[in-house]
Amino acid sequence: MKEFEYNVLPSRVIFGSGSVKKLPAEIQRLNVSRPLLLATPGKSNFSNQLSDIIQAAAITIAGTFPHAKAHTPTSVTEEATAFLASVAADCVVSIGGGSVVGLGKAVSIRTGVPHISIPTTYSGSEMTPILGETQNGKKTTRSDPKILPAVVIYDADFTMTLPPAICSTSGINAIAHAVEALYATNANPITSMLALEGIKALAAALPQIVRSPESQAPREEALYGAWLCGAVLGSSSMGLHHKLCHVLGGSFTLPHAETHTVVLPHALSYNAPAIPEQMAKLATVFPGSNGDALRGLELLLQELGVPRALKDLGMEEGDIEKATEIAAGNQYPNPRPLEKQWIRELIRRAWAGETAK
Ligand code: NAD
Repeated sequence: MKEFEYNVLPSRVIFGSGSVKKLPAEIQRLNVSRPLLLATPGKSNFSNQLSDIIQAAAITIAGTFPHAKAHTPTSVTEEATAFLASVAADCVVSIGGGSVVGLGKAVSIRTGVPHISIPTTYSGSEMTPILGETQNGKKTTRSDPKILPAVVIYDADFTMTLPPAICSTSGINAIAHAVEALYATNANPITSMLALEGIKALAAALPQIVRSPESQAPREEALYGAWLCGAVLGSSSMGLHHKLCHVLGGSFTLPHAETHTVVLPHALSYNAPAIPEQMAKLATVFPGSNGDALRGLELLLQELGVPRALKDLGMEEGDIEKATEIAAGNQYPNPRPLEKQWIRELIRRAWAGETAK
């Protein structure tokens, strides 16, 4: 076996249907008593349910801030931080997708208050020490172990309302973390095992969610897979796929999970010749692969009926060249060297919605 180093990230995870009822005990365990609830606009039903559970345990809610926005704008974080101080809150509880998790991380790292996260999508952000923030249209990313939430509660009951179309793209976003973890420069047997288990769970669950959205078991299995994929994202270096999606999302404001969904088969196809061992392992977890992981991924995407073209997500044809310049401009570790002409072709195919080759 090859030598490896593995930094296990400190995180406490509570998993299970109905586990949100353990929230008051978790607040007490952290020795805090005045939570500020964070949510996205239009999702006040989530924070209302949390309020009922917390107040039933005779804990006072300091306040609710339901204004989280995508890409964690610093202006929103400043408003939330000022609100936290004005209501004397001593912890934050984020409930929702990656956008709210981002706000929870941003407030927690600025103020030092602990963060309990209850994720309701499969973005995986709650398991990473990474915070991406936007200011004046520019997105910057930083990593610090203190950014990790103190506790993550995975309760699939709160994912039942997530529309199958968002489950699908959010689930492929999670799968993308695990795919890149398999060939990361710091990959090790533990992260590879978690990555394959995460992909297997999501690849099995997502089509079932699309077929029967009201069924609970696949929602739980998908959330379990998303946890594992988030965990490997938090401890692995990412390559071409994530860098490209970062460029596309940041420079052309394309939607996060959908962009990951369109780009994944193209990025994997680009790297495939350099990672035969990983491709063979991937073929064992995508049903229908028949020994060919790209075929298995393609079948999954078709079954989910997800978007396949960047042009359908709002990217202009003229942006292909600009995206190529930015994406090929910075060299970073990737199994296959970054060759500008092939990166351009990859982006063009993804833009047009062609099948990956
Ligand atoms: P999101 O949080 O914007 O959620 C997507 C949509 O789903 C929103 O409209 C939201 O209101 C809705 N939604 C969420 N939960 C729901 C539910 N249970 N029922 C019904 N609707 C629900 O998007 P996302 O894809 O979860 O997260 C994307 C963000 O997370 C981006 O800003 C991205 O940069 C960030 N992210 C960060 C990391 C990291 O490690 N720092 C990792 C992944 C993603």
